[in-house]
Amino acid sequence: METKKLTRRAMLERGAVLGLVVIGASAGIGCGGAELDCTNPPGLTDAQRQQRQALSYVDRSPNPTQRCETCNFYTAPAQAGQCGGCALNLGNVNPQGYCSSYVARS
Ligand code: SF4
Repeated sequence: METKKLTRRAMLERGAVLGLVVIGASAGIGCGGAELDCTNPPGLTDAQRQQRQALSYVDRSPNPTQRCETCNFYTAPAQAGQCGGCALNLGNVNPQGYCSSYVARS
């Protein structure tokens, strides 16, 4: 059986690499970037919060075929990767979101 001696330098190098991997994973680096979060977008009013609650809005649809971005009430954002609009006064919503008023775009 072969035994390898780990030098102090080798252990420090491995520790540094592991640290970078952990930091990268927690920041979403290398996995397509951080996921868009539209759960509490800036400027959300109390009425919009109540509307979200009343319509059971979620930032990630439980059904991949029913998402805000395929909903008739959705307005795409000016730039990709941002929260979009909803005509039902929910404020800015996630393209991957969903609520109980979903209507498939025709
Ligand atoms: S109505 Fe609901 S599913 Fe449709 S865009 Fe608005 S929040 Fe999303």
